[in-house]
Amino acid sequence: MYKGYSWSCSDVLSLLSVRYNPDKEEQMIPCPFCGSKRFGMNIKKGTGHCFKCCATADSASYYAAATGLSLNDARDDIKRRLNIPDKYGKLPERKVFKEKKQENLAPIEVRDKTYRAFLDELILSQKNYDHLKSRGFSDDDIVAKGYKTYPSVENTSFEDLCRRLIARGCTLSGIPGFYKNYQDEWTFIRLTPGIIIPQIGIHNQIEGFQIRKDDDLRRVFDEKLESKIAWFSTKGYCHGACSHTTVHIATDFIYNKEKGHYEPVLHGDIVTLTEGGMKADLCACLLDNHASLIAVQGVHSLNPLKDALLSLKQYGLKTVNIAFDMDYLSNPNVQDAMEKVTVLIGELGLKCENLMNWEYKQRDEKGDEFFLKGLDDYLAFQQRGIKPVIVKE
Ligand SMILES: [Zn+2]
Repeated sequence: MYKGYSWSCSDVLSLLSVRYNPDKEEQMIPCPFCGSKRFGMNIKKGTGHCFKCCATADSASYYAAATGLSLNDARDDIKRRLNIPDKYGKLPERKVFKEKKQENLAPIEVRDKTYRAFLDELILSQKNYDHLKSRGFSDDDIVAKGYKTYPSVENTSFEDLCRRLIARGCTLSGIPGFYKNYQDEWTFIRLTPGIIIPQIGIHNQIEGFQIRKDDDLRRVFDEKLESKIAWFSTKGYCHGACSHTTVHIATDFIYNKEKGHYEPVLHGDIVTLTEGGMKADLCACLLDNHASLIAVQGVHSLNPLKDALLSLKQYGLKTVNIAFDMDYLSNPNVQDAMEKVTVLIGELGLKCENLMNWEYKQRDEKGDEFFLKGLDDYLAFQQRGIKPVIVKE
């Protein structure tokens, strides 16, 4: 029976780091001939054509065009890279690939400048704006936090956007999230669109981006819903850079003219520790910015937290309040991490207080139960009467 190539179209797209949706038979991917984003590929059949330049290709000729190899060499290269035996059952020669060149992380000043220019080039979609408003952010909060919508290739040329950044004097080399495509042009990673949450460091500089993907756009891979949060990082990409783990600080800042940088203003010499950048931002906003919050990326990243707390001590920090989500209380892994955090805070000579004591379960006027999982949920309910809406899957 005729079975077609001994590899699948998705194998080839993976080799080329082309992002595609495995659940969709027909979809738009970049055209290796003209560079447009309108190459309609049928992933199942492994053939397609470009709606812009009209070039047609199957998985092998697509690979050839993308890599610049001849058609025969392309087929051999695919087999070799996928370890597919030839007709005699012999495995292809094993070659060791040189690692894709990675860039060293650019200094924070350079990253901050590029990331701010990047945000400036983007818009906040109505959908994302509505989401932020429904959680309790005011219009001014949304502007001040710099939230924007992560673009999709359907409505934005990533390469054009990079060209505009370079024209603005921004550096893209060594900035996590950016990389060079196979045509040696700067571009940035494709991610499921969502809200970009800038991660602010101790001197009010953008260290990196966390993307909170839109729930309706999250995709299912291997029967598992993709994670809610993505990082703007290009580890393993050609000329890419790995994002480094930091904490996010949501507080007021004041500019120090002598030192030429911003310094954090700590309210009551206290910071409240939570998880997730947007949660920390929202808590600060709901408390009219009379509170300082610090967000870790997962309760297990202790080293960045230690560095941040040590820095904040120089600005008068005395007490750390812990306010992780309440459902953590029933998770033994998290309990263990929390104990470690408590020990760390003590070791740094800081006072530690557990803030996780609000009424978690609530009932509305109709008697229906709802949960105030995070400190942000609790504050939004207390300050603005916002009840979390449970969406059933
Ligand atoms: Zn084309």
